[in-house]
Amino acid sequence: MQPTDSTSPKASNFLRQIIEADLASGRDAGRRFAGTPGDAQELADAPLDTARIRTRFPPEPNGYLHIGHAKSICLNFGLAQDYGGVCHLRLDDTNPEKEDEEYVQAIRDAVRWLGFDWVVGGVNHEYFASDDFDFMYRGACALIKAGLAYVDEQSPEDMRRNRGTLTEPGVNSPWRERPASESLERFEAMRAGKHAEGSMVLRAKIDMAAPNINLRDPAIYRIKFAHHHRTGDRWCIYPMYTYAHPVEDALERITHSICTLEFEDQRPFYDWVLAQLADLGLLARPLPHQHEFARLNLTYVVTSKRKLAQLVNERYVDGWDDPRLPTIAGLRRRGYTPGALRLFAERIGVSKSDSWIDDTTLDGALRDDLDPQAPRAMAVLDPLKLVLTNWDAVMGSGVLDDCHAPVHPHHPEWGQRHFKLGPQVWIERGDFEQIPPKGFFRLFPGNRVRLKYGHVIECTGATFDAHGQVTEVQAVLVPDTKSGTPGANAVKVKGVVTWVGAADAAPAQVRLYGRLFTQPQPDAGGRDFLCVLNPDSLRVVSGWVEPSAAQAPCGTSFQFERHGYFVTDLRDHAPGRAVFNRTTTLRDGRAG
Ligand code: ATP
Ligand code: MG
Repeated sequence: MQPTDSTSPKASNFLRQIIEADLASGRDAGRRFAGTPGDAQELADAPLDTARIRTRFPPEPNGYLHIGHAKSICLNFGLAQDYGGVCHLRLDDTNPEKEDEEYVQAIRDAVRWLGFDWVVGGVNHEYFASDDFDFMYRGACALIKAGLAYVDEQSPEDMRRNRGTLTEPGVNSPWRERPASESLERFEAMRAGKHAEGSMVLRAKIDMAAPNINLRDPAIYRIKFAHHHRTGDRWCIYPMYTYAHPVEDALERITHSICTLEFEDQRPFYDWVLAQLADLGLLARPLPHQHEFARLNLTYVVTSKRKLAQLVNERYVDGWDDPRLPTIAGLRRRGYTPGALRLFAERIGVSKSDSWIDDTTLDGALRDDLDPQAPRAMAVLDPLKLVLTNWDAVMGSGVLDDCHAPVHPHHPEWGQRHFKLGPQVWIERGDFEQIPPKGFFRLFPGNRVRLKYGHVIECTGATFDAHGQVTEVQAVLVPDTKSGTPGANAVKVKGVVTWVGAADAAPAQVRLYGRLFTQPQPDAGGRDFLCVLNPDSLRVVSGWVEPSAAQAPCGTSFQFERHGYFVTDLRDHAPGRAVFNRTTTLRDGRAG
């Protein structure tokens, strides 16, 4: 089935306008690319790049991706698709301590699941920043030789103090004017492991009085005796992200490097690094350009890998794919579809100013995506037994009546689902009242209702336990009223009740998820988000579902009539042991 989002035209935004203007001006037309990242020399003889633009999605493999990353994925891969370009998957692994192969795999899974691919025309555009460590080192040496970088041996405290403030300029380091040869020798010794962590760093030599603090001789390499998940113990110095990132973009021939607003102040340094290395003959022109957009903030969730990791590691939730988390793995297990997330990303658009998106927007996209495609089924989540006392007399002892309903009301071609009506039926507890409040049209003694897709029945009474709780409802079947048979509508009723037959319904564990937090902005203003955890974010009930639903494979979405959208759990559902997660209710105003 076609994803909903591909059928509607895409709204323009400032990034599209930038790309269209750049394509029109031919700014990047002379770009060469041979299918692998390359420096100026390697690219000199490469063919012209056939991709009209190149974007990249550059996660750090230090955690699972979340809904904010989904926005970035849809944006970067989507723009590449729309403008005849290619989007790279870049693992930005310059921070060895927190990174792991498990996260690399989870990132690949998430991007593919969202419907995007970095293998284009048989070329695999998956790149690791760590594969470019040699070039980054070479670039750093060239900067030193050109007098554009120096090894600083101030203590970290002095370095911080001498950086100045927003209102005061910084103070030059006593090491700033040391000869290039001395810096180079020190830098080589840093690489050789001869100096302790924190004892010195390599800094760009720009301007300690720059109004933008990011230009006050930012560090570009630090010593770190850490094992790297790919390069092992080969390096004990690692590039800073702010140096590595522009270099990776240039080596991969990225045209539009799209990132979130907090990097806006870094853009001058991004451009500085690229211009210097290009002038030194190391990087090919034309150079990439950075553009910033507002990150996604979604109400009632936290979207920071660090905070998500805390929820997982301290066991407030059950793993990275807990359906209450906004991780892509969690959303998937909750029953969100790739189409719903793409539609959500399209609807929220991109802007230049930070804002909060209401979580009901995500659910709206989900309903719009699922409604036309999710098979329907009946389920009873708070079961109460209904006994049809005249069944044997009217239908015959031991007889079960075949009932059927369309798999989907708008897709007759998808056929019918079948289930059986017998003398015992499960109904929702809320569908019976001994003394009906005003406007209640369902089951109460003396009232007639239709069992949906079945017969009209008339309630005759109920049995109660010692606490006054109803334990069983009795009714009689009204003959010749079966749905779809001639004359079935001769008996008029005001209420229709969903049900499942005790003879063929399957027991199911149903997990009713609510919001994980009680506050719309759980971590706003530096609040400890753990203080606003919702104690009722998960309620597990034992219900009954139609056979068609119980037999579905893992990860199948249904609309349970009257209840909402549910999905068979990816981990725990199995034939003979149905487990459903509630994705969302039918309308807004979801249970807390
Ligand atoms: P976190 O702060 O959760 O660790 P991050 O930005 O450090 O997130 P990265 O792995 O570095 O995570 O991000 C990869 C890409 O995803 C970056 O380009 C980043 O801008 C983008 N991204 C991350 N979070 C969001 C968000 N909330 N909205 C939009 N894009 C995001
Ligand atoms: Mg980060």
